[in-house]
Amino acid sequence: MTKILDEVVKALPSTANIAEADFEGANIILYTKNKKFFLEGGENIKKVVDDIKKRIELRSDPSLCLNQDKTKEIISKLIPEDAGETKIIFDPQRSRLIIEAEKPGIVIGKQGSILKEIKEKTLWSPSVRRRPSIPCPLIENIRNVLYENNDYRKKFLNKIGKDIYDDWTREKRTGWVRVSCLGAAREVGRSCFLLQTPHSNVLLDCGINIAANNKQDMFPILEAPEFNIQNLNAVIISHAHLDHIGTLPWLFKMGYKGPVYCTAPTRDIGALLCLDLIDIANKESGDALYGSGDVKEMVKHAVCLDYEEVSDITSDIRITLYNAGHNLGSSLVHMHIGNGLHNFVYTGDFNYETSSLLPPAVTKFPRVESVMMEATYGTRKEIVSTRKDSEDLLLKIIKKTAERKGKVLMPVLGVGRSQEIMVILEKAMREGRLDKMPIYIQGMVWDVVAIHTAYPDFFNYAVKKLIFQKDTNPFMSDIFKRVGSQKEMQEVKDGAGPYIVMATSGMLTGGASLGYFKHFAENPKNTLVLTSYQGAGSLGRRLEEGEKEVVFVEGGSKKQEVTKVMMEVYSLKGFSGHSSFNNLMNWVSKVEPRPRKFIVVHAEQSRCIELASNIYQNLRVETNSPKLLESIRLR
Ligand code: ZN
Repeated sequence: MTKILDEVVKALPSTANIAEADFEGANIILYTKNKKFFLEGGENIKKVVDDIKKRIELRSDPSLCLNQDKTKEIISKLIPEDAGETKIIFDPQRSRLIIEAEKPGIVIGKQGSILKEIKEKTLWSPSVRRRPSIPCPLIENIRNVLYENNDYRKKFLNKIGKDIYDDWTREKRTGWVRVSCLGAAREVGRSCFLLQTPHSNVLLDCGINIAANNKQDMFPILEAPEFNIQNLNAVIISHAHLDHIGTLPWLFKMGYKGPVYCTAPTRDIGALLCLDLIDIANKESGDALYGSGDVKEMVKHAVCLDYEEVSDITSDIRITLYNAGHNLGSSLVHMHIGNGLHNFVYTGDFNYETSSLLPPAVTKFPRVESVMMEATYGTRKEIVSTRKDSEDLLLKIIKKTAERKGKVLMPVLGVGRSQEIMVILEKAMREGRLDKMPIYIQGMVWDVVAIHTAYPDFFNYAVKKLIFQKDTNPFMSDIFKRVGSQKEMQEVKDGAGPYIVMATSGMLTGGASLGYFKHFAENPKNTLVLTSYQGAGSLGRRLEEGEKEVVFVEGGSKKQEVTKVMMEVYSLKGFSGHSSFNNLMNWVSKVEPRPRKFIVVHAEQSRCIELASNIYQNLRVETNSPKLLESIRLR
């Protein structure tokens, strides 16, 4: 037995009758054969926890658990009806059961009273999780993958713990810390950074640059000499966007079997995006980088953390994820290295502004000496209009189009802005600032919305209040209508205005949004509203620049088809998920305690340099904007 488990078991009275001691990641799990100790041993466990400062969970030995049928019967009697539809999932290897419910709070009971009673009467360890309010096949799939692999997960989590504690010490470490840029240094896309110490190799993000013209620039530079997949201890994913997670399933294809740390929404939305990427690649070229089996491996190896939950991930690195305000579940990653040797924050993408859906990025950390931050809008040149201005303008545009019975097309990215704009429109219609009209949501965007309904705790205060206190979930409003099949899409196109359509892709480079565009473009009553960044050469960019005639070439026949752009075209810039230049600088000045070093990445060269020099001028701290393949010694 690993030394620390030995210490824990020895610290308990012999009557504790511990049959097995395991790890679940960094947590210690004890299985007792003594029923009385299981129910009353809390004080003993607390004493040990205070001493070793590790999370310990006491469970009954599987042999003590009541059989599943009787357990179900007891639980169904205990749970009040207003908890909504519930489902019980057993994990017999770990003496755990999960109750899935529409209203988790009601299942838990006042101060946990109902869960406590379930535990006493069945000797299982119950936990509760939220059922998405909108049925979500993907979440069901993910939960099934985890359930079917209960046995594997138990061994996998135990192995992580062994790796963490094998070489573990409470003493402050000596040595060094360095970070190498394998992608997204002086560029956007393929975010990937390797953090190394004498004891650990950890990858921060593993993205893909889908806009790259050649394969060489598409993936992180994993052939760098520092990187060796055999030595990789852990991967941390800051958030679910392809430029931060898109290459991760490929690591599993290459044989990686270690943990992936992220929030639960990042795991779920990330899996959806990777599956969608496979789908598109198969349709377009037939050579996807990886298959759905590799995405499944990624899900099997995900270890989800809540915001502000502290967790050891290697023998000398402890991480905490904090809200980044960028998209659902997005995180700033705080790393406490070598028991105080160094404290590092990797921001991923962040927004230091309250959006209509999420709270702003966090600025307070227990300790921080160096920060690696994004600089997407790291230039004063790009004046981004405020969210409020864009919101007002959006409502005005829709009103005008509705008055002439036109149709509004909003090409959107699947994740982030689309959900934010849904919340804005729902609120405006609920409050009577905008006449009610149908908002059609195309397939993939809808799937992401469904995932959102499983994690309302991640929303900002106003939206949470609406859901938990007023029982009004904006995403459940009847103004939103899902469009799945081709037939449904045709019905929407043929229907009379006014209405709004939200569909991918965001730059009109393909997908459903392009189909709607062709249908709407020649009618001057209709309106196109672009809200995301439009890449050079994309149809969206050309329309932004005023193109009035679009030539489409039919694939097989090479027949040219000209579409006249008679609809109104608007481009709104204020809904970005990234901080504006001013907000980047605000965030930098508010970070507490003040870091000694800022490393600027995730923007084109001139922006990285401009932001770095502005930070230096304002704070007089060391700044750096590394190039690809550069390594920086943090300590
Ligand atoms: Zn992002």
